[in-house]
Amino acid sequence: MAATTLPIAEVFRSLQGEGTLVGVPSTFVRVAGCNLRCVWCDSPGTSWQSAGQPRALDELVDACARGPRHVVLTGGEPLLFPALAELSRRLSAAGHHITVESAGTRWLDGLACDLLSLSPKLAHSAPWTRDPEWAERHERRRLAPPVLRRWLAAYPWQLKFVVTSDAKRLSADLDEIETLLTELQIPNESRHQVLLMPECTDPKRLSAAYRQLVPVCLERGFRLGERLHIALFGHTPGT
Ligand code: SF4
Repeated sequence: MAATTLPIAEVFRSLQGEGTLVGVPSTFVRVAGCNLRCVWCDSPGTSWQSAGQPRALDELVDACARGPRHVVLTGGEPLLFPALAELSRRLSAAGHHITVESAGTRWLDGLACDLLSLSPKLAHSAPWTRDPEWAERHERRRLAPPVLRRWLAAYPWQLKFVVTSDAKRLSADLDEIETLLTELQIPNESRHQVLLMPECTDPKRLSAAYRQLVPVCLERGFRLGERLHIALFGHTPGT
């Protein structure tokens, strides 16, 4: 029988803080559970210390009905859960615009999605200093180009890369991004759909982290990825 619940870390309303819909009022449904362990994970309650409560799909649909048209299904890794596809279809049928935020390592059939926000994880995300066993697993799982290609062909998309704020390590991230974009056959005219977002959760350091990426974006045609929620509220759950 199909699951009628999802493990939920939080449901909240805010302005979308990242990506091409930044600033749009949205309900966020954050699923707990992830197959990766980024060393800098900004929602550890869905990964390192996953703590979700089962919530019925009916209840989630009702919660979204009381909020804005835009709904963001995020995590954790929402695409690990078959019930998420059912939730997305019910929300879409109710007239919502659906963004799904994912690292894109797994395929899920039957998703209803208006914007697929894919955030493949770069090598610097592996938690070698924190948990070498998980780092090995993370390294094996973090990039799945055939799965990414399938997602890119199926839905409107943006690619969001978290890049280091350390100037000395930035070129390694950029090399890895360029290699992946070549493998994914992303055409030059779609580079504005590729966002570089600084790995920075300190509002005081954010402007400097953005400035470091300006020449890179100008030179390579990428879009600067904002972190509006960090600028507005700091690194705070539920924002
Ligand atoms: S993929 Fe996202 S939720 Fe999972 S560990 Fe990385 S940052 Fe955290």
